[in-house]
Amino acid sequence: MRAVTLLRSLLIRGSESPSLARLVRDRAFARRAVRRFMPGETLDAALDAAAGQAALRIAATLTYLGEKVVDPASTESVALHYLDALDRVRERKLRCEFSLKLTHLGLDVAREACVALLDRICARAAETGTFVWIDMEGSEHTDVTLEIFRAVRARRANLGLCVQAYLRRTAADVDALVPLGAALRIVKGAYREPPALAFQHKREVREAFVGLGTRLLAEDARRAGVRAVFGTHDVRLLARLRERAWSLGLGPAAFECHMLYGIRTADQRRLAAQGVPVRVLISYGESWFAWYMRRLAERPANLWFVLKSLFV
Ligand SMILES: Cc1cc2nc3c(=O)[nH]c(=O)nc-3n(C[C@H](O)[C@H](O)[C@H](O)COP(=O)(O)OP(=O)(O)OC[C@H]3O[C@@H](n4cnc5c(N)ncnc54)[C@H](O)[C@@H]3O)c2cc1C
Repeated sequence: MRAVTLLRSLLIRGSESPSLARLVRDRAFARRAVRRFMPGETLDAALDAAAGQAALRIAATLTYLGEKVVDPASTESVALHYLDALDRVRERKLRCEFSLKLTHLGLDVAREACVALLDRICARAAETGTFVWIDMEGSEHTDVTLEIFRAVRARRANLGLCVQAYLRRTAADVDALVPLGAALRIVKGAYREPPALAFQHKREVREAFVGLGTRLLAEDARRAGVRAVFGTHDVRLLARLRERAWSLGLGPAAFECHMLYGIRTADQRRLAAQGVPVRVLISYGESWFAWYMRRLAERPANLWFVLKSLFV
C-alpha cells in the first residue's frame, strides 16, 4: 500500500515537471498510451467522439487541455479556440458542454484579463445554448477560483464550478454556494495536497464526498435550483448517493453522473440505461502531459498500458 502511495506521489510530482513533459510528449509510445483516455488531439476527434456518445444517449463535456499558461497571446488564442469550438458544437447539433481551467486562460499572470476571457466564453456559450464549467486546480488557486466563479456567475447563469471532496474546506465552501443555486460538480480531487488542507485517506475522501453529495440533494439546495453533479467512477459511492436520493423520495435524475472518456464505459452505459443523466468528459489538445500523469496517478495500474505501448 505504501508503495502505491509513493508511486502516486511520484507521478503527480512528475506531472509538474516541464522537462519530463518535453521528454515524453513526442514519443510515439506515449501517444499510443494516451489514446486510451483521449480520442485524439484535435477538436474534430473530440466532436466525433461526442457524436458517438450521443448515439448511446450519453452527453459530453469537452476540455481543451492546457494549464498554467503565462503568455497573453497564448491565453487569447485559447479563448478564441473555445469560441470557435462553441460554434462547431452548435453546427453539429451536439449536446456538449465545456470545462476549462482558469490558469489556461492566464489566471497566474493577469487575473482581470482571465476574467474577461471567461466572460466572453460564457457569453458565446449562452448564445449557443450551452454551459461552461470551471475545473478546480491545486489549492493555491481555490480562493481565487471561487471569487472568479462568484463574480462571473452573477452575470452568467450558464457557469458551473468543480469542487474537491478531499479539501477540508469544501463543506463550508459548498454551504456558501448552495443558496446561489449553483451548478456544482463534486470530484475527489487530483492534486498533491498537504494533510493540513486535505484528507489523505481514500475512506475519508469518500465519506466527505457522500456528505457533500447529500448536501446537494437536500431540500433547500433543490429549492434553490442547485444542479448536482457527481464526477466519479467510484460506482459504490454512486450507489450510496443513489440510496440517499431514494430515501429522500428522489428519482434517478436527482443527480448527474460525469465520468472521464474511456474509464468505466460499461458503467456509464448501465447508469444511462437506468435513467441517470450521464456525461463523459472528453479531453483533447496537444498539452496532455500533466493531465495524463494525473490519470496515471489515480490508477498506477495504468502504467501497464504505457509499458505495453512501448512494444506495440
Ligand atoms: C468529470 C470529471 C471531472 C473532473 N474534474 C476535476 C477537476 O476539475 N479537478 C480535480 O482536481 N479533479 C477532477 N477530476 C478528477 C477527480 O478528482 C479524481 O482524481 C478522479 O475522478 C478519480 O477518482 P474517482 O472518484 O473516479 O475514484 P477512484 O477511487 O480513484 O476510482 C474508482 C474506480 O474508477 C476507476 N478509475 C478511476 N480513475 C481511473 C483512471 N485514471 N484510469 C482507469 N481507471 C480509473 C478504477 O476502476 C477505480 O477503481 C475529475 C473527474 C471527473 C470524472
